Amino acid sequence: MLPYFDSHLHLQSPKCVDQAQQWIEQAHAVGVQQFVINGTSPDDWPAVSELANTFPELVLPSFGMHPWEFVQGSTRWDSDSWFVELRDYLHRYPHACIGECGLDRWMENPDITTQSRAFSMQLELAAAFNLPISIHVLNAWGLCVETLKNSPLPARGIMLHSYSGSTETAKQLLDFGAYFSFSGHFLHQRKAALRETYTQLPLDRLLIETDAPDMLGPEDSLIHADSAPLNHPANLIGVAEGLAATLGIPEETLASQLEQNFHRYFLQA
Ligand SMILES: [Zn+2]
Repeated sequence: MLPYFDSHLHLQSPKCVDQAQQWIEQAHAVGVQQFVINGTSPDDWPAVSELANTFPELVLPSFGMHPWEFVQGSTRWDSDSWFVELRDYLHRYPHACIGECGLDRWMENPDITTQSRAFSMQLELAAAFNLPISIHVLNAWGLCVETLKNSPLPARGIMLHSYSGSTETAKQLLDFGAYFSFSGHFLHQRKAALRETYTQLPLDRLLIETDAPDMLGPEDSLIHADSAPLNHPANLIGVAEGLAATLGIPEETLASQLEQNFHRYFLQA
């Protein structure tokens, strides 16, 4: 059994929070050593912190404001009280990660101005405390690169979760110390071009994730298919196998490289 580390998932989600403890134990039993559980707004940060308190050795909590929270016409997050609360969580969990945050023009009615402002605020916070950050970007690569250029960045680098941009953009992002997290969703046949991008990236910049309970991979990659259509964190093993096949390297080589990357990015002070 090889040790693997899930860089991005959401077991606090209302879709699976009732099974989260059992899922963590099941995934741990097949080799998943740590889980970076990403909150998406102050609404689910308490559930993230509860899982971190229950499994202090296994769960690395991540607190952040997801770009989907910023919808045109909504006044819900008009005040920056979420940011005050975020700082408070980081005070309580000084080794937490920041995220999920980022930019998304693919969603319906994005408030891109507010997304961008919130993303910058979270980047600055990550830079100030040199914390890992989990970044979501869809249809907004130009703005993302521009924002990274104009922001202080954490010395440890940044992580693009489920990176689905081009090889050219990836090369630009490497200059910002980027890590690229590969998702099981990319093992679907139609994602061949994206898999090709991952073969062009440096091995010491790769991470893997399930994004559970979302982003289910293809049937033949699932270790734990019973929970479908929800994605179970044990499926990380299938993600790793798929990435090893994509890169044409032995699973043992990939596992040891991914472990080093995870430690360097998430755990080193
Ligand atoms: Zn996510």
